[in-house]
Amino acid sequence: MLAKLGDDGRAIAGGHSLIPMMKLRLATPGHLVDLAGIADLKGIRSDGNDIVIGAMTTQHDVVGSDLLAGKIPLLRETALLIADPQVRYMGTLGGNVANGDPGNDMPAVMLCLNATYHVTGKGGERRIPAREFYQGAYFTAMEGGDVLTAVRIPVPPAGHGAAYEKLKRKVGDFATAAAAVILTIGGGKVSSCSIGLTNVAETPLWAEEAAKILTGSSLDAATVKRAIAAAEAITSPASDARGPAHYRTKMAGVMLMRALARAKANAR
Ligand SMILES: Cc1cc2nc3c(=O)[nH]c(=O)nc-3n(C[C@H](O)[C@H](O)[C@H](O)COP(=O)(O)OP(=O)(O)OC[C@H]3O[C@@H](n4cnc5c(N)ncnc54)[C@H](O)[C@@H]3O)c2cc1C
Repeated sequence: MLAKLGDDGRAIAGGHSLIPMMKLRLATPGHLVDLAGIADLKGIRSDGNDIVIGAMTTQHDVVGSDLLAGKIPLLRETALLIADPQVRYMGTLGGNVANGDPGNDMPAVMLCLNATYHVTGKGGERRIPAREFYQGAYFTAMEGGDVLTAVRIPVPPAGHGAAYEKLKRKVGDFATAAAAVILTIGGGKVSSCSIGLTNVAETPLWAEEAAKILTGSSLDAATVKRAIAAAEAITSPASDARGPAHYRTKMAGVMLMRALARAKANAR
């Protein structure tokens, strides 16, 4: 149906981004195609060394999954910082990552975790790395008629440390700035590190240079300071009701510092 309707049709998942956009007349699709009845789009499963999460899996399902709590606790932690229980009952993981809103929390976490998105369209299935998916605010690698069916995440090594730190004005708000960190530590030194940043540019950001600076270090204060400067340097937030641009950039740095400290503390 989506392929036939082209630009006049839009998939609806939990509706908790799309319906507010329609109320504001920022989206005016002629037709909505509800994905809720497609059972195959739901569920969380292991597939070799990956976890595959169906696009229609709700944030509430993510919070409640024992499999995710054991293998990728960062996802549960992030889901719990999204909005409030009512939104999490309806909002889906697929909707959160497909939406393309830089304020959504899951995309930066997916960059951090090196996730891959399964997208099905007229030409069959494509697998798109999350790190190549986001092209601008509300612009992604998906085309008209495409459906995101699942998110595939490589299970991080046992003993990894991770954290998502989010500054918001009040409970349930989108991030002023947020940072996701995943790292492994061996012999007192960082052996691998990945960092994602939320809502400090038109797209979620993968802070590759900052992570490179930290790799091989003992997370000493001078190296952390250099990494934070490298992460801040790739941000370009808008000045808005959440604060002026330079404040949001600095808050991204503060969130990164806190996430690094917590990830280090929970690594084994
Ligand atoms: C009060 C409130 C507070 C919120 N706070 C936060 C927050 O703090 N952090 C946060 O991350 N989000 C927040 N949200 C957004 C919420 O998490 C949304 O549920 C989520 O962004 C979109 O998921 P959805 O399932 O509701 O998608 P929908 O609203 O149904 O869809 C969103 C967009 O994605 C497309 N889409 C959805 N699923 C698919 C799919 N499988 N394939 C292709 N396209 C698809 C739709 O066509 C639409 O363009 C908030 C929402 C509200 C109402």
